[in-house]
Amino acid sequence: MTFPSTYRAVVVKAPGQLQLVERPIQRPARGQVRIRVEACGVCHSDSATVEREAAEGARPRVPGHEVVGRIEALGEGVEGWNIGQRVGVGFLAGEDRTCPSCRQGDIVNCQNPVITGMTTDGGYAEIMLAEARGLVRVPDDLSAAEAAPLLCAGLTTFNALRNAGARAGDVVAIHGLGGLGHLAVQFARKMGFYTVAIARGADKAELASQLGAHRYVDAKVEDVAAALQQLGGAKVVLGTAPTGAGMAETVRGLAPRGRLVVVAVPGESIALNAVDLVFGGRTVVGALTGTVTDNEQTLAFAQLQNIRPLIETFPLEQAQAAYDRMMRADVRFRAVLLMNVDKTGVQA
Ligand SMILES: [Zn+2]
Ligand SMILES: [Zn+2]
Repeated sequence: MTFPSTYRAVVVKAPGQLQLVERPIQRPARGQVRIRVEACGVCHSDSATVEREAAEGARPRVPGHEVVGRIEALGEGVEGWNIGQRVGVGFLAGEDRTCPSCRQGDIVNCQNPVITGMTTDGGYAEIMLAEARGLVRVPDDLSAAEAAPLLCAGLTTFNALRNAGARAGDVVAIHGLGGLGHLAVQFARKMGFYTVAIARGADKAELASQLGAHRYVDAKVEDVAAALQQLGGAKVVLGTAPTGAGMAETVRGLAPRGRLVVVAVPGESIALNAVDLVFGGRTVVGALTGTVTDNEQTLAFAQLQNIRPLIETFPLEQAQAAYDRMMRADVRFRAVLLMNVDKTGVQA
């Protein structure tokens, strides 16, 4: 049996344009592992790589930071990881350990991070090189397609919710029911919060309830803040929909000392009324991803509580279609690329 010396990868050919290419398989450098990729989620943050003009002469970048696969080669100096081990790689895939943030233990805010699919090639490929320090252990009984979105969308919402200061029984509202929001509602419910889902349209009520929401607020016809105040005010609102106006609307619905935690990044600003902040001591704060151990806890909690992303899968060669549909918000609810899928849709 001979092993192929090349692999297929999808690279950014021009802003917004992806291209399938063949690349030679390389040995992992010191501290790195080589991963045989099984699945890679398509995340909105990939647009930072895909829509950008590449630097002159730079090798085209492979996007993708929701990667699940198995280690097939170890670089020099890698300890604690084995060939054949199931691993994941998320957005933040290595901190420098020397910058002021890292020295204070705040590695999520590392000033020189390895960011998968941005500063290094990501997972829209059959093979990927990753820093061992950025690896996440992935349980064998979690499917690659379902684990992939948990590594970014899952981690982001899980960590933001568990660090927001709400306690069991508190009212926690999830603003938005898309790729992030549909996971956040499941997490919030299973964390023991009175869970409110806020979205637009009566057609989302059924989904909200299936995901575990106790109450659905239709922002098209209801006053969001008034609906939250009827429940006593939200201790936490998690802003997952990329709309500044929509997020701003929820602030008046916060309980005193309540917190709007922003995880989506809208193109426009979030216009806040200072009265709502000052009277009631309300807070608006952002939350960014998490560490590799946070990510392992995300996977463990998802397994424990049977929380799964709703996904649509695509073979690698349809990466452009998957990306375009994700950008149009036309995927229910996370797109995932599967490597080595045969014509019947079965993964080899
Ligand atoms: Zn992401
Ligand atoms: Zn650092």
